[in-house]
Amino acid sequence: MSQNLTDSGALTDDFEEVEVIEPERVVIREGDLSFESTESESVTLHTEIYPQISSGSEVEWIVEDADIVYVDPDGTVTPLRAGQTTIKAVLTGTVMDEINVTVGGSGEGHVHNLILINETKPTCCSTGNIAYWHCEECGLNFKDEAGSEVLQSVVKAIDPDNHAGGTEIRNAAAATAETDGYTGDVYCLGCGQMIRKGEVIGRLTDDDQSGAEVPDGENPDKTDPGISSGSDEFGKTQADSVKTGDLSSYYLCLALLLTSAGIITTVLSGRKRIKR
Ligand SMILES: [Zn+2]
Ligand SMILES: [Zn+2]
Repeated sequence: MSQNLTDSGALTDDFEEVEVIEPERVVIREGDLSFESTESESVTLHTEIYPQISSGSEVEWIVEDADIVYVDPDGTVTPLRAGQTTIKAVLTGTVMDEINVTVGGSGEGHVHNLILINETKPTCCSTGNIAYWHCEECGLNFKDEAGSEVLQSVVKAIDPDNHAGGTEIRNAAAATAETDGYTGDVYCLGCGQMIRKGEVIGRLTDDDQSGAEVPDGENPDKTDPGISSGSDEFGKTQADSVKTGDLSSYYLCLALLLTSAGIITTVLSGRKRIKR
């Protein structure tokens, strides 16, 4: 790559299209800022980088006196205390812009009214948060009750292993004299992933069939799509999987059995499909 660069740093024809133009100047578009008081709304600063086709880099915001205003990584300025300070937008060591910021009002300034926000654990479908102290007036989050350290993020990333939102058993099939059954795979309703594979249930022996499974000694192939004879079988399948399952799937199974005959019918018709 380096041999394609000429002495002046310009790129040869081969690489013209991906030429990197170094930024020469950054300008804070809003210019100097003035807040009437600490109660004033936050203002978001924007930058322009010249030449405009230079590859966009993240600007770093630096406040001279962090007690007077707070600037978040997106450039949003929140007044905290009356006074005067400066904010720098720094692109590189030499490319930067600086503005003056004044916060009016009495010198007493904003006193954070902090409430503790408890930690919540992330799950497979939602982010969590660390424990932190939040000021409703200025919207800032702090690491401690004293409000000495501002937190830029309190979010805990999604935890793909912490399944939440309930589970569902899919592809369950009862055993018959001809075919093996299947306890069904357990799926997480939060992220849609299969979290536990089911197990094969051995096909029914003569002993099994002498029970109530086949009423009136009819053709054992005939499956009642209703709940009457099928539900016993289904209930057994569910109970088997519950023994190896976790609590949440147990409660889901219970809820399904108690409240939703419709779902049972669905599973039974699924079973019929598998038989073919
Ligand atoms: Zn505050
Ligand atoms: Zn999940």
